[in-house]
Amino acid sequence: ERTRDDSVEGLLRGLVQGDRYALARAITLVESSNPKHRVQAQILLSKILKRESELASQQSTSLASVTPSTEATKTVSGTATGSASGSGSGSAKNTTEPEQRLRLGKSFRIGLSGPPGVGKSTFIESFGMYLVSQGHRVSVLAVDPSSARTGGSILGDKTRMTELSRDHMAYVRPSPSRGTLGGVARNTTEAITLCEAAGYDICLVETVGVGQSETMVADIVDMFVLLVPPAGGDELQGMKKGIMELSDLVIVNKSDGALVDSARYAQIEYTSALKFVKAITSYWKARVIRVSSMGGPEGGIKEAWSTMKEYFDIMESSGELQRKRGHQRKIWMWRQVSSELMDLLNEDAQVRELAKDLESKVLQNEMMSGAAAHQIVEKFMKGFKPTTSP
Ligand code: GDP
Repeated sequence: ERTRDDSVEGLLRGLVQGDRYALARAITLVESSNPKHRVQAQILLSKILKRESELASQQSTSLASVTPSTEATKTVSGTATGSASGSGSGSAKNTTEPEQRLRLGKSFRIGLSGPPGVGKSTFIESFGMYLVSQGHRVSVLAVDPSSARTGGSILGDKTRMTELSRDHMAYVRPSPSRGTLGGVARNTTEAITLCEAAGYDICLVETVGVGQSETMVADIVDMFVLLVPPAGGDELQGMKKGIMELSDLVIVNKSDGALVDSARYAQIEYTSALKFVKAITSYWKARVIRVSSMGGPEGGIKEAWSTMKEYFDIMESSGELQRKRGHQRKIWMWRQVSSELMDLLNEDAQVRELAKDLESKVLQNEMMSGAAAHQIVEKFMKGFKPTTSP
């Protein structure tokens, strides 16, 4: 039994030792909207950043001085994954690689999207178990777009990825992030950072391919993977061009049994559709592969990973990955500025009162929306005048 220490220091200590309960509590902390928790979360995250840059500089001066975290090693060697072939002798060697990659800031963030029922959970379960058998430590986070508006959930509260959840090399965040889309994105970015600090070298971020959530997820991951069903043309026509533009890899799932032919057909269709989509980066051309998430590693899971790994290696060795992450951080800085400003604006009682009045005027077409917006911002700014101008 570990003693539970919820101080920032305690959480950090637990995290870097690979303690899953510390990770769970840390994620809960960054998801909290309580201002006191927000402050603690920021302290924790900045300590992690500081630690990582220290480790990175240590690493560059002396590789030998970096010893893998003992706790993480213990966790790994004590694992009985079931599906891992020869995990006993292989794991010690494999542990070092993800550990070192983490220390260099080289984790791999993969976004997975697709319509409900396409097989996201099934894919993640078997893909995750495969990664674990390869010595990786896998974390799974979920972004649920439906909960922001309706309070309901598309990803659902059903028990998902049961085998992977039980594996010591994996961490599956049980409930998807909820709240406003902007808030969810911030939480998810921070949760990824926490997972990486806890030694998970691969982070899967799952979302349903509806609404804006996939754009948001594409902006926080290294690679965006779209899962599609094996059906033909109709489906493809219904697919928004936007989501194809985000995709680095399209996986036609359920390519098994009677569905193989239509999976092949879909593969051809998507491949030609991708020809008309502008590439995200000059370093990579999006591909389409077929997978059976129920067919074990040889059913396409292995190929899915080798394709993703190829992408990672190209992006990472060319420096494109670091550029992409930098660009994403910049995007998120500005999104966060607007979301924090909106929060402040919504909290302002005078602004709220005025807004109610202006909303009805705009509804009745008594006022132009632009003019109303301007008045709202003016009112909001006035509230700040005493402190901003001397
Ligand atoms: P999600 O809503 O995208 O998470 O989809 P699920 O993973 O819950 O899968 C939906 C249904 O498709 C389930 O009944 C799965 O058993 C089935 N399914 C998932 N992957 C495959 C596959 O590769 N082949 C076949 N035949 N069925 C699959």
